[in-house]
Amino acid sequence: MKPKRSRRQRLQQRTEESRLCAKPMDNESWRRVLGRLNRRLQVFPRDAILQPVRVIEAGIGILNAPMEAYCRATCGDCLDPCCTGRKVFYNRADLLYLVALRKAWPLGQTRVRPEDPCRFLGPRGCLLPRYLRPYVCVWFLCEAHMELFQAEPPTVQRRWIQTLLDIRNARLRLENLFESRFPGDTCDEA
Ligand code: SF4
Ligand code: SF4
Repeated sequence: MKPKRSRRQRLQQRTEESRLCAKPMDNESWRRVLGRLNRRLQVFPRDAILQPVRVIEAGIGILNAPMEAYCRATCGDCLDPCCTGRKVFYNRADLLYLVALRKAWPLGQTRVRPEDPCRFLGPRGCLLPRYLRPYVCVWFLCEAHMELFQAEPPTVQRRWIQTLLDIRNARLRLENLFESRFPGDTCDEA
């Protein structure tokens, strides 16, 4: 018979981020959701939250310059820009990170209604700095970017992949930590 796992151990089995909060939201709901997550995060030791947040922020910093260079090389001629997709949202891991970062929050969810375009899409691309974007917008490598990535030296590719892994693990750690105290959180506004 397998030994019984504790509730804490079971909660730490999350290997994928939840889709909680990844939905259209009006600005008032957005503020309430972030406010509630912020209050809940106060129960954790600051260091426990800051550790994964610093890994995420530093990792995005590493990815920023090459991703910007890829965009400069390809996005201007793109016939099917990824930012016109309607399914890009901040998920709960994004929101936990944003709240814990203690910087100004973005104005709202990417869209208020499902049919809206992303509110952060400006005439020259995304209006947000990379560290404030939904993470899917940070790591996404379209076909054109993948070609550029594959032409990079192996050391660059390895560093990039390790950075993505570090960020992914840190985001999972953040969500697991949150769920260890708030299992069943539904991303409600209350
Ligand atoms: S990232 Fe890729 S898909 Fe998105 S706009 Fe640039 S070239 Fe197009
Ligand atoms: S948040 Fe920025 S990068 Fe993401 S879909 Fe919107 S405009 Fe594009």
